[in-house]
Amino acid sequence: LEPKEEFQHSSLTVDVMRPRRSDPALAVLTQEGMTVEEVEALVESTRYSGFPVVVSQESQRLVGFVFRRDLLISIDNARKRQEGVVGASQVVFTEHAPAHAADAPPPLRLRGIMDLSPFTVTDHTPMDITVDIFRKLGLRQCLVTHNGRLLGIITKKDILKHMAQIANRDPDSILFN
Ligand code: ADP
Repeated sequence: LEPKEEFQHSSLTVDVMRPRRSDPALAVLTQEGMTVEEVEALVESTRYSGFPVVVSQESQRLVGFVFRRDLLISIDNARKRQEGVVGASQVVFTEHAPAHAADAPPPLRLRGIMDLSPFTVTDHTPMDITVDIFRKLGLRQCLVTHNGRLLGIITKKDILKHMAQIANRDPDSILFN
C-alpha cells in the first residue's frame, strides 16, 4: 500500500471484506468446545493464514485471532510432547480451562498463541479510513464487526485487489500522484 496513492472512492469496508455473499462462511474457532481433531480439520480444509476466535458460534463475540502456522505448530508439538493430548482433547483459548471429566483426555490450552487484541473496524467504516489504518499500522489483516459481533475479515491483498478493480473500471477514481 503505497503511501502516495490516494484512495478516493465511496466504498465501505463491508463491500471489500470477506466472506462475500456467495462465499463459504467465515472460518472461526470457538474459545472452547472444539476438539484437536475438529480444529485440525478446519485448518486443513482451508488455506487461510489465520482464524478469529469467538466466544461461541451463536454469539460471534470476538475473543482473539490465531495464525494458522502457530496453530499447526502448537498442535503438532502438543501431540508429540504433551502427555495425553489426542484428537479428542478439547482445545481451549479461555483463561481457565473448563472442568473436564476424569476419564476425558487433558485439554490443549492455546491462549498463549492467540492475539488478544486484534485490530477491528466496523462494516460501515469508509474504505479510505480502513486503508489509512492498514497503512499507518502496517496491518496484514483486520477483522470486521457489526454491533459487536464478528462479521468478516479484510486483508491487505483484498484491499489491493479492490483498488486494482476500481482502477480498471474507472481509472479516474484513484489518483496516483
Ligand atoms: P491473503 O489475502 O493475504 O491471501 P489469507 O490467505 O489469510 O490472506 O486470505 C485469503 C482470502 O480469504 C482473503 O480474501 C481473506 O479475506 C479471506 N480469509 C482470510 N481468513 C479467513 C477466514 N478465517 N475465514 C474466511 N475467509 C478468510
